Amino acid sequence: MRVERSRAAITHDHVHPHHPGEPAGHIHPHHGAVFDRRAALRSGALGIGAILLAACGSSTSDSTASVSTDADSTSGASAPTTNGTATNDVTEATAGTVSGTVPVGVLAGFDAFADTVTAFASGDVWMVECYGIPMHQMMVGITSWQQQVPVAQDYTGANAWQFPITPQLADEPVSARTGLFRGAIALAVNGIPIFNALNNRGDDAFLVGELDEFGGHCGRADDYHYHAAPLHLEAVVGPANPIAYALDGFAIYGSIEPDGSPLEPLDEYNGHTGPDGVYHYHGTTTYPYINGGLIGVVEVSDQVEPQPVTPAFRPAGEPLAGATVTGFEDLGNGSYRLEYTVGDALGSVDYTVTETTVSFEFTSPTGDVTTETYSR
Ligand SMILES: [Zn+2]
Ligand SMILES: [Zn+2]
Repeated sequence: MRVERSRAAITHDHVHPHHPGEPAGHIHPHHGAVFDRRAALRSGALGIGAILLAACGSSTSDSTASVSTDADSTSGASAPTTNGTATNDVTEATAGTVSGTVPVGVLAGFDAFADTVTAFASGDVWMVECYGIPMHQMMVGITSWQQQVPVAQDYTGANAWQFPITPQLADEPVSARTGLFRGAIALAVNGIPIFNALNNRGDDAFLVGELDEFGGHCGRADDYHYHAAPLHLEAVVGPANPIAYALDGFAIYGSIEPDGSPLEPLDEYNGHTGPDGVYHYHGTTTYPYINGGLIGVVEVSDQVEPQPVTPAFRPAGEPLAGATVTGFEDLGNGSYRLEYTVGDALGSVDYTVTETTVSFEFTSPTGDVTTETYSR
């Protein structure tokens, strides 16, 4: 649609397909500079240690990942096809710039999650590195479940989130009522992507029971994301700070104005121009919940570009009729347990995530136990 002048260049520098066989450091030259692994582990973020260096080494082909029955997953179809030495040289040449980390404090809202989310300026975009696993309970309350479970994603290096530092109003905003059904449209300040409030069938994901108590669920790549406003973050960041940023770069505030006054009327995109003359969005408890589209300049294919890829590592899950997710627990050392009920019967998914594998033990409500192990 419209291409912001300098984002194209950033695309070549920072987003390109994984190159099987290349050392991870070649693609992620600045891991050490921007992410304190120990701090993240201390903070209890789920699975971070297990996947820290894993996703980039995945040999899952982007073409396979893009064959998706859940179009809301940011699977590999968006990966640029540029490849080869020239691109790699550019990546290395710019690594020094990327490593010039701007303190996280300058991007309002992210400070509170600095242990697990790293934001830094690179050129004219913010880059945000994170693992896509929140500190809060996940999955409990879902009544329309596709049997996907939360697995940490490697949103780092070339696969980091990005949005403009200086957002600009577009001549033609993009509505989330008629498009943007694929991929994320915003990023919460706790590092969780936010997708269109309508799922890829056009249903309100919240109303049809697809979401947990925090407005999230897992996509095709077992990637946890929200489809509703993470208003619970208001209590953490306070009303003066954004709870998220739309991928056009405009901030998303909570349920009152940043100065603490009651919410002013919103336009169809769930936003308005603030007293400072700058547009911002709000999260709401009714549709569209989050930004109802993108009023700022963005590049859009069938999703906002660029954005991270989340390769699926196993076949798509099927809807499990009658199931309600009743429990989710981080057991430590990369192991997790999800429990659900069908009628009075209990089923569970126990799984362990390592740097290179995800192994499952499924216990069905009738007591059948099956195991599956996947490389990633
Ligand atoms: Zn989804
Ligand atoms: Zn406002």
